[in-house]
Amino acid sequence: MKKPVKVVVTGAAGQIGYSLLFRIGAGDMLGADQPIDLVMLERNAESSMKAAKGVKMELDDCAFPLLNSVYSTPDLTEAFRDANIALLVGARPRTKDMNRSDLLNANAQIFIQQGRAINEVADRNVKVLVVGNPANTNAYIARKCAPDINPKNFTAMMRLDHNRSLTQLAQKTDCRVTDIEKFCVWGNHGNTMFPDVTNTLICGKQADTLFDQQWYLDYFVPTVATRGSAIIEARGHSSAASAANAAIDHIRDWCLGSGDKWQTMAVPSNGEYGIPEGLCFGMPVTCNNGDYEVVKSLELTEFQKEFIKKNVEALETERKVVDEIIANS
Ligand code: NDP
Repeated sequence: MKKPVKVVVTGAAGQIGYSLLFRIGAGDMLGADQPIDLVMLERNAESSMKAAKGVKMELDDCAFPLLNSVYSTPDLTEAFRDANIALLVGARPRTKDMNRSDLLNANAQIFIQQGRAINEVADRNVKVLVVGNPANTNAYIARKCAPDINPKNFTAMMRLDHNRSLTQLAQKTDCRVTDIEKFCVWGNHGNTMFPDVTNTLICGKQADTLFDQQWYLDYFVPTVATRGSAIIEARGHSSAASAANAAIDHIRDWCLGSGDKWQTMAVPSNGEYGIPEGLCFGMPVTCNNGDYEVVKSLELTEFQKEFIKKNVEALETERKVVDEIIANS
């Protein structure tokens, strides 16, 4: 029997949490032989703790053989102590009265506190995935507030954008998602994101020979970038099961490997491809031996550089705002 891995999920009683926790318990994230100590970190509010209690009752009722223990707490230190994996899902949603800077500020406070707690008590090799929006900037904040942890371990989720793109490409070309290689989404999980088919092969053929540039620019890119709003419009709620699925994919590949298959992860830049150091940026990665590596030595076209630049600008604008908040907190 393997030693249990401690997995912390924040905002576990929310929509995404309700899908995510049961998939984790079933072994979809870390494999069918990996026991898990699961911690739900909730906001210290009666309604949140009550909802978390209900979710725990349902997890208990699943009798998942891999769930070694489950508990919920509002205490950051207790939750993150010796954590091996942290899925930071809980975030403050934007309300009508908030502008973007209010939203950044409200979330900055959450991720500053969580980053500091992770720095203080988590396992030194903790793997962090930020899902709560604005995900890239929230991951940047948590990393800045955890200087004793390897910066590489703070990532944000762009796998949902990656997965959404795969299905759009597969449907357009009448292939399967597994027939698609070397695809990635660069940049920010926001409307500037760049789903890039420059190097993509579909059924062994160069992707851009299978559809025209007009479909790519006028349909594919906006469809992927605005998919979240389209789901809200259709379902009346934001993406939850697909977001949970993407979080599972992200961590599973990071921990168990993706071989030489490209995946998209938003990771702190080391200056690759002219992306300023430190920005948490969607890039193509491969995962092996519990680690990820950014795909190197791609020759970027002017078209790619232009799209990447737009994302750098969007993230730099947010970085300026949150750097000031961090400095004053
Ligand atoms: P919900 O509003 O359903 O759930 C959020 C949960 O987080 C609530 O239970 C909330 O509790 C809790 N929460 C809020 N603040 C904290 C905190 N400081 N500590 C712990 N828990 C907290 O949202 P969803 O589950 O639908 O989405 C969660 C986040 O994921 C959102 O920010 C959303 O925008 C983002 N998202 C990101 C995607 C991506 O691709 N990166 C895709 C889809 C969603 P309470 O109700 O008490 O406030």
